[in-house]
Amino acid sequence: MEVSLSELEKGPLDLEFEAPLTRLEGRAIGGPIRAWARIELKGEQVALKGNYQVLLACTCDRCTRPLELPVTGELELLLVQSESQEPASDDQEFSLEGPDQDYFTGNQVLLDTYFEDQLILDLPLQILCQEECLGLCGRCGGDLNLGQCTCPKWNPDSPFAVLKDLINPKDS
Ligand SMILES: [Zn+2]
Ligand SMILES: [Zn+2]
Repeated sequence: MEVSLSELEKGPLDLEFEAPLTRLEGRAIGGPIRAWARIELKGEQVALKGNYQVLLACTCDRCTRPLELPVTGELELLLVQSESQEPASDDQEFSLEGPDQDYFTGNQVLLDTYFEDQLILDLPLQILCQEECLGLCGRCGGDLNLGQCTCPKWNPDSPFAVLKDLINPKDS
């Protein structure tokens, strides 16, 4: 979704649109991001407020089981026109209050990017099928959520655990 500055000069816009996922390869597929936005000119700057929801198809970071992850979030940004994609760091203004600052180039504001940026921020650090997912056995790759595999257990408390397993391989 693109909005031109000349459109914004006529007044604030309320938009509902879909933004594609373009930068989540390897972590998730799915989308598009369903977004609602209010965008308006504030002097030289553009105020953007919005929220989104998306359904992602991911795999559990521990056991690799496929799962569906619904994510919702919101954003509030003050967009500053910039000549280049990467503004010099001394151009940035940091404030503890008020919306975060971001940038747009030219006379068009491409909204999709900001929503995907926000989604990337909102993603959990670890995507898990369940909080207490047991993951995979480091040795045989078996899914430990389905039950203990037959690999000998490593007991960090006992240096003799390995010996015991060798003598009694089925005892695990
Ligand atoms: Zn899992
Ligand atoms: Zn195993």
